[in-house]
Amino acid sequence: MCLELGDRREQFGGAVVPPTYGNSLFVYDSMDSLTKAVMNEQGHYVYTRGTNPTIETAEMKLAALERGEACRCFSSGMAAIAAALMNSLQSGDHVLCISNLYFSTMELLRYLKKFGVSHSVCYETGGEAVEKQIKPNTRVIFMESPSYMTFRLTDPRAMSSLAKKHGIRTIIDNTWATPLFQKPLLKGVDIVVHSLSKYLGGHSDLVGGAVISKKKIIDNLFTKELLLMGGNFSPYEATLLLRGMRSLPFRLKAHQENALKVAEFLEQHPKVKQVLYPGLPSHPEYELGKTLLSGYSGVMGFAVDGGYRAARSVLDRLQHIKIGVSWGSFETLAMSPNTGNNEAQLISENIDPGTIRLAVGLGDSGEIIADLEQALA
Ligand code: PLP
Repeated sequence: MCLELGDRREQFGGAVVPPTYGNSLFVYDSMDSLTKAVMNEQGHYVYTRGTNPTIETAEMKLAALERGEACRCFSSGMAAIAAALMNSLQSGDHVLCISNLYFSTMELLRYLKKFGVSHSVCYETGGEAVEKQIKPNTRVIFMESPSYMTFRLTDPRAMSSLAKKHGIRTIIDNTWATPLFQKPLLKGVDIVVHSLSKYLGGHSDLVGGAVISKKKIIDNLFTKELLLMGGNFSPYEATLLLRGMRSLPFRLKAHQENALKVAEFLEQHPKVKQVLYPGLPSHPEYELGKTLLSGYSGVMGFAVDGGYRAARSVLDRLQHIKIGVSWGSFETLAMSPNTGNNEAQLISENIDPGTIRLAVGLGDSGEIIADLEQALA
C-alpha cells in the first residue's frame, strides 16, 4: 500500500511516481460545468485548498493503511487535531483526555475554553476509572497511545466500547505507532489523527497532518474544517510524504531494532532510574501492548535522578545525538520536557522531572549507545 496504492498511473500517463500538481486552481469550459464542480467539490478538482490530485493520492494511501473509509490531509498535525476536535464539539461540550497528550493538544484544549469547551484528564486508563469521569456533556474521549512523555498504553477497544455506550466520539493520535503498527479504527475508534511530520514523512523535511475516519465524518470535515479554516496540505509536501511513505515499512523496522538495543542498554545503566518504552518487557503494559501493537517505533523516554539539572547535564554532554523538538526521522534526537520552571506541573502529570525523550534514528546503534554512555558517565 505504501508503494503503489492510489498512484493511479493510468490517469497520469503511466508516471511511475504520481506527478506533483502544484497548481492552485483547475479551469473549466463553461460556467455551468464550474458550478456543477463547486456544488460537489469533494468529487472534482476545483481549488487546492479543497482537492488536489497529489494530496488525494496521499489521502488514499493513508485511508487504506488505517482501514478508514476516507482521509483528509492538513498543513500540520496540529491543524488535523484542531479540525477533528472542532468537527466533534460545540460550545458547552466537554473533552475527556486519557492520560498524557501532546503538550500542544493540551494547550489547544485550554484555548478552546474561550469557546465554551471544557476538558479534564483521566490519568488512569482502566474502563471503570474512565467511566467515572464521564460527564453528561462529555462529547469526545481523546487518547494518545503511547502517551506523551510517559509512554503508557491505552486500550482503544475498551475506550471505544465505553464511549459508544455513552454516545461519545473517540479520537486517537496514532502518530507514534503509525498505521503500520496500530490500526485503531479496527478497534472501534471513530477518528484517527496523525502528524505526518514524524515517521510518515520520515525525513525532517515536511510538516503535515491527517484525519482518517468514516466517509460521513470526513465529508463533513471537508466542507467545514478544511474548506473554511483553510489549513490545507501542500502538494509539494504531499510529494515528499509519498516519497517518504514508500520506505516506511523498512525505516520503521530499523527504528525498532535500534530502539530496542538502546532501551536495553539504558535499562541496565546504573544512572537510569526508569526506561519508558512499550517494547521492553518491563513496561507496565507490555502484555497489553502485544495485543494492540504489531511493532514499536523508535521514540522512548528515560529518567535520571536529579530532575532538571541532571537531565540537562546529560543532554548537554551528547555529541552525536542532537538536541531538538519533533522526532520520527533519520537523525537521533533528544530533549527534556523540563524547562526548569515547570517541575510541579510535570509531577502533577506523572512525568518524572528527570525525563529525557529520545527519538532513536537510523544511524549505527553502537554509535548512539556510545554517545549515551559517555553523556551518562
Ligand atoms: N501529535 C504528536 C504525538 C506529536 O508529537 C506532535 C508534534 O510533535 C503532533 C501531534 C503535532 O504535529 P505537528 O508538529 O505536525 O503539528
